[in-house]
Amino acid sequence: MSTLAATQISLPNGKTYAQPTGLFINNEFVAGSDAKIDTIDPYTGKVICAMEAASAADIDVAVAAAEKAKRGWRDTLPAQRAALLNKMADLIERDADIIAAIDSTDNGKAFTMARHVDLVGAISCFRFYAGYADKIHGQTMELGRDMHGYTKREPYGVCGQIIPWNFPFLMWAWKVAPALATGNVIVLKSAEQTPLSCAYGASLIKEAGFPPGVANFVTGLGKTTGVAIATHMKIRKVAFTGSTLVGRQIMKMAAESNLKKVSLELGGKSPHIIFADADFDKAVETVANGIYFNQGQVCVAGSRAFVEAPIYDKFLEALKARTAQVKSGNPFDPTTYHGPQVSAIQCERINALIEGGVKAGAKVVAGGGKHELGGLFISPTVFSDVTGTSPLQNEIFGPVLVISPFKTIEEVVAIANDTEYGLASGLHTSSIDTALRMADELEAGTVWINHYGGASPQLPFGGYKQSGIGRENGDAVIGEYTQIKTVSIARNNNKK
Ligand code: ADP
Repeated sequence: MSTLAATQISLPNGKTYAQPTGLFINNEFVAGSDAKIDTIDPYTGKVICAMEAASAADIDVAVAAAEKAKRGWRDTLPAQRAALLNKMADLIERDADIIAAIDSTDNGKAFTMARHVDLVGAISCFRFYAGYADKIHGQTMELGRDMHGYTKREPYGVCGQIIPWNFPFLMWAWKVAPALATGNVIVLKSAEQTPLSCAYGASLIKEAGFPPGVANFVTGLGKTTGVAIATHMKIRKVAFTGSTLVGRQIMKMAAESNLKKVSLELGGKSPHIIFADADFDKAVETVANGIYFNQGQVCVAGSRAFVEAPIYDKFLEALKARTAQVKSGNPFDPTTYHGPQVSAIQCERINALIEGGVKAGAKVVAGGGKHELGGLFISPTVFSDVTGTSPLQNEIFGPVLVISPFKTIEEVVAIANDTEYGLASGLHTSSIDTALRMADELEAGTVWINHYGGASPQLPFGGYKQSGIGRENGDAVIGEYTQIKTVSIARNNNKK
């Protein structure tokens, strides 16, 4: 296969850069054999460029390249793996403005958010797992004088990774860094809506000096490329971030192919609880950010707010006023907080849920869907009086909050946990007793107390119930990317 040249792209901020458009296999950008995919700027509606897409046969080629690189990478000195990951962090830092601009154009998110949240997170992720590469260890077991036992943590080999479009480069980093640190080789598929930063990151992998075949990156549709990864017989682990619906299919495909290990980071309908003794202004600000950040396209969005009855009416008024201040506009305007949704399909889906909610009797407190800017913008929206069967009880993945009052701690625990999701939760209180009790009671992988959102490489992240299987970040993810080998030795004790 011949190497494809990059395409020169002019970004809305006036910068020009070389965008690779090929599949990255064996450290080369090559053509794919599936139909090319146009990637669209959701703010302008214009095609940015066409990306090569991988067919099942291309995935076979990528997996073969990874298989070939597998032993060499596994046996590379851990300190050398660490050095390469640190080099990646340096290169991402060098190009952070470009990568943030790429994600902003491809996804519609505000450039300032992309630069200060996504890129800062991606850099710290690479640095954190560079630090982990030479700190992976097993245990020794006390078996008496006649036996010696120990365990090793070994990589799975070829890992398939499938990422979503809401934080394109950050999710890329969360998948790539720990997998490579632990000595795995990878075939990663970007989301078809936002393939650009993945391919750009691939060019940095080559520049950093990773050996060919260690990290392979492809663009493609879920139903073709994604399925080829999930069903592949030589892929030993699949890590997926996306919807619960697709997560369930991934698990089924893994089971029906080769029982590959599965880790899933899925949807949520996270509760955000305000007690009457909380710092009121801070809570209003945090609830607004908890739902409106990234246009609500966040798996941990605090999409269900529960406010203690004595402050409910006042809270509703304050939130309404705060919602009116959300600054929408061009993602490259430094004052913009709120950009367009990622795609027309997502926009239609959210609008349909909003309309369904209104029909089911919910009251619009703020917003209501239609946005004065038109296009793919949806106005930040708050609903009250949402009943149990309302369409608004679904994960909306948009800037839509459902709010209701509560009277007792027992009541709010019951309603907060009354969901099949369990990704995250948040609460505001000045009582340490309330905080600790709630931290015990909430059925969620994360409990944020007196703040909401934000991830750190140190903190494990993942879901309870149908929000996922396994954890990303922290040392927890090391367990997701390594399998335990037990070694047991009979000792001779110098007997002849
Ligand atoms: P969303 O509905 O928010 O777009 P998805 O869960 O559909 O989220 O997509 C997340 C990722 O999963 C994307 O990379 C997408 O291409 C991929 N995907 C979608 N459907 C499948 C599938 N059937 N098998 C494997 N991957 C898929």
